[in-house]
Amino acid sequence: APVDPAAGLVDDTLIVRLPRRGVASTKFTSGHVLVAGGSRGMTGAACLAAEAAARAGAGYVTALVPAALEDIFEIKLTEVMTRGLADADGAHTPAGVDAVREAVGQHGGALVLGPGLGRSDGALAFARDVAATADAPLLIDADGLNAHAGILTSLATRSAPTILTPHAGELARLLGTSSDDVGGRRLHHVREAARLANAIVVLKGDDTIVAAPDGTAVVNPIAAPMLATAGTGDVLAGTIGALLASGIDPLAAAAAGVRLHALAGRLAGAERGADAVVASDVIAALGRARDLAA
Ligand code: AMP
Ligand code: MG
Repeated sequence: APVDPAAGLVDDTLIVRLPRRGVASTKFTSGHVLVAGGSRGMTGAACLAAEAAARAGAGYVTALVPAALEDIFEIKLTEVMTRGLADADGAHTPAGVDAVREAVGQHGGALVLGPGLGRSDGALAFARDVAATADAPLLIDADGLNAHAGILTSLATRSAPTILTPHAGELARLLGTSSDDVGGRRLHHVREAARLANAIVVLKGDDTIVAAPDGTAVVNPIAAPMLATAGTGDVLAGTIGALLASGIDPLAAAAAGVRLHALAGRLAGAERGADAVVASDVIAALGRARDLAA
């Protein structure tokens, strides 16, 4: 593993044993994941995150989607419950925030915010309101991150754990710098973001780094170039969301999720051909990756 103790990186001794279903498990004890996202043209992202959460071990998954698109989600998703939120032109708006809080209150569990959200003003305001007011462990991805460009510190006051999953471009926007700057000093910037947001930050790429506010950082050592295809980021968000909902420590959930995702990518590559992998193949391989990693 490419671990440099001098840089303060820790290796995969961090990875915890993942919770397994036992004889007394129920769909509720296996963890509940809520996915808030989706917009016209990007329903797939929210579906991938929700399906990945189910395959990564969540017992119960609910998609919180723009009301105008709910019928589409009902058709695309079978195991996942859907709830339509007050929307504008098929995108989330702040009018839907109370329903998110209600769903969190009803089911508990972890919230994944951002897949397929889009960048309408309403959707970005929705993401900021949800992050500021939802009292649940929260993972923010994609346009949920872009909604926090330049206001990363606003997340530091959340009382429940927060995980951010930016790629270099998203992290650059969060920090108000350039992608090149992030690319040149990935470890520095991911630690800085974790400190500013008081969150676990997963800086994605071919050498994904997970950092905690105290400076702890771990690099994923499993090469998986077959993940370089659309939708795999959404799969990672749902995967980590499921581990977060299972109740394990957020840093361990993020690190283990990155590892599972890379393992699943490799398994999918072996089955489908490395250059033919699509995101749903990675979802299909999550179960076998989980068995290997456990
Ligand atoms: P996104 O940038 O949101 O689409 O997410 C892409 C996902 O695929 C992230 O988890 C990346 O770490 C992963 N990924 C993309 N390219 C590679 C690569 N060349 N090697 C390993 N993982 C990759
Ligand atoms: Mg993405």
